[in-house]
Amino acid sequence: MRKVKIVILGAGYGGLMTATRLQKAVGVNEAEIVLVNKNSYHYETTWLHEASAGTLHHDRVRYDVKNVIDTNKVQFVQDTAVEIKTEEKKVILENGELEYDYLVIALGGESETFGIKGLKEHAFSIVNVNSARQIREHIEYQFATYNTEIEKKDERLTIVVGGAGFTGIEFLGELGNRIPELCKEYDVDYEKVRIICVEAAPMVLPGFDPELVNYAVAHLEKKGVEFRIGTAIKEATPEGIIVGKGEDETEEIKAGTVVWAAGIRGNSIIEKSGFEAMRGRVKVQLDLRAPGHENVFIIGDSSLMINEEINRPYPPTAQIAMQQGETCARNLAALVRGKNELEQFKPDIKGTVCSLGEDDAIGVAFGKKMVGSKASFMKKMIDNRALYMIGGPSLVMKKGKFNIL
Ligand SMILES: Cc1cc2nc3c(=O)[nH]c(=O)nc-3n(C[C@H](O)[C@H](O)[C@H](O)COP(=O)(O)OP(=O)(O)OC[C@H]3O[C@@H](n4cnc5c(N)ncnc54)[C@H](O)[C@@H]3O)c2cc1C
Repeated sequence: MRKVKIVILGAGYGGLMTATRLQKAVGVNEAEIVLVNKNSYHYETTWLHEASAGTLHHDRVRYDVKNVIDTNKVQFVQDTAVEIKTEEKKVILENGELEYDYLVIALGGESETFGIKGLKEHAFSIVNVNSARQIREHIEYQFATYNTEIEKKDERLTIVVGGAGFTGIEFLGELGNRIPELCKEYDVDYEKVRIICVEAAPMVLPGFDPELVNYAVAHLEKKGVEFRIGTAIKEATPEGIIVGKGEDETEEIKAGTVVWAAGIRGNSIIEKSGFEAMRGRVKVQLDLRAPGHENVFIIGDSSLMINEEINRPYPPTAQIAMQQGETCARNLAALVRGKNELEQFKPDIKGTVCSLGEDDAIGVAFGKKMVGSKASFMKKMIDNRALYMIGGPSLVMKKGKFNIL
């Protein structure tokens, strides 16, 4: 009898969770499992702000996919998915194609620039290891170049971060630690450095408890961050950004580095492959399948689910992507065994912790608000737990964060 073929696209949080759970749930005689990923490695997307600021080496945030899957049960293909032909049940890869009976799309998200002029060309985004490495190098280059020029360009030492959401604030926290080191290393006067956070919304960290937000803002301001809240970026240019000021006025902020951290959309393959989507994210059924596609599951940042309590989409998080991976694996196992009744996914939000650098954070975990070293400890435990869930204790020993005192 022909085995059922399951193809999983993406070895991020959602894809790896699906693969590692599925390899335990179904036997080799029941299904053929193929996992496709662009790189030979998985990266911890939730640690990329550290690699981008240069406070954590990029090799610390990644590990080989083959180290955490059972290669006797899961075939790993290192390739880039280009398009999905749902009618032909086929995935087009850069170097070939794959047929499937069931498909899991776990390709993560991409930066959303909301059509703002020049952002794609002149701003960086924290999206993967390559972009994190480039941001780190670029900032360091600005510092290294500053003292080599006869006519000093102070704007080289200005870093603009677009967006005061989760990613922007975590990155600012790391910059707060990194900038004094760079100043020391390149003999740069700390007073000359500007870190400016520009946010169009009237608040920092929307959705977070106001008391925690005040703590975060005060902490970052102490580290030299200037907040320009309620200020929209109108354009990014080779020299910096142009922001709106009042009704029709604009202001130019010259900056050697602009990092856009204000929006996420689904992977572009989603729209290219004809799925109905909102900003590249597919509103999936409760069983995580794409509407109208009984054999396609979409999880993680390329999927969208509504939180009925507040009638708004759940934010795209690793926490949800991993939980979806578990449900997706169980549902696939059921389908392989001919059961048609599938589990409905319900996120179990255990809390959210936002780091403010190496030793400070704010958050709510298990219903309790916390700040400072306690929250920072909790953040590292959450990071270690994610490693444990995918690779067990050996991965925690290899990659875990133990700088907890
Ligand atoms: C700086 C930062 C901090 C964050 N902090 C938190 C946090 O503290 N807590 C939290 O819950 N969430 C956090 N998030 C959000 C979280 O990282 C994402 O929601 C999560 O990574 C989504 O998981 P995913 O499986 O959908 O995609 P990802 O984990 O991003 O994985 C996608 C995978 O697909 C691969 N891929 C992409 N395109 C292709 C292609 N065409 N072909 C083959 N492979 C491809 C990628 O290489 C990657 O391995 C943070 C995000 C950022 C950027």
